[in-house]
Amino acid sequence: MRSDMEITYLLNSGFLVKLNRTLLVFDDFSDPANAVNSEIAENNFDNLYIFASHAHFDHFDSHILDYQKDATKYIFGNDIKHTKRARAFPAEKTLYMKKYEAFEDKNIKVTSFDSTDVGTSFSVETEGKIFFHAGDFNWWDWPGDTEVNRKAAKLAFFRQLEKLQGRAFDIAFFPVDERIAPSQEFGAKEFLKATNTKNLIAMHRVGFPRWTPSAEFWENDEIPIWSPVDAGERREFN
Ligand SMILES: [Zn+2]
Repeated sequence: MRSDMEITYLLNSGFLVKLNRTLLVFDDFSDPANAVNSEIAENNFDNLYIFASHAHFDHFDSHILDYQKDATKYIFGNDIKHTKRARAFPAEKTLYMKKYEAFEDKNIKVTSFDSTDVGTSFSVETEGKIFFHAGDFNWWDWPGDTEVNRKAAKLAFFRQLEKLQGRAFDIAFFPVDERIAPSQEFGAKEFLKATNTKNLIAMHRVGFPRWTPSAEFWENDEIPIWSPVDAGERREFN
């Protein structure tokens, strides 16, 4: 049986999603395996949407300009608008979204949410599937930080999580950042409790080994998890 979608890990929080006639690219700051280029060269798609959640170097890079001929639309977090790099993008193809905005065309439905860092996170619906890409939205509980800061990070996270409460996602891309171990799972765990997510893809962990959830991670039913390590790693999903 043919699978409905194939997802390729680019790097950090970068992914390529290949559906029947649609390609989605998220936070492609670097693509060492040249996955996006090769997929575009195959020319087997009708629409290509390129997302960047925010302007940080590890999420947004000007090389995605190379895809402008094939891009249906660039969809960026609004903070990117205020960067020099943004000026090079074709205005008629580029959309900046503030938090809690919606965009819809005949192929895709996008809703933006806030981040606990800068920019946005995105919910994207296309070809009957719903994706959530968190950007840098996470419970950033830095060990060693002050109590005040840690409390603020927790509050900001739960305030935003409330907006996602009860939503259903086929695929959620979410940070599990080992730099904040032993707190690295906190955000993803709460996200799964709050939402109805079918598959979790761990991201934002360059330089760390594959993550396997701890015994404490599961409170609800276990779902499939993918924690990619090598650029160009690929999985199929139904
Ligand atoms: Zn980041």
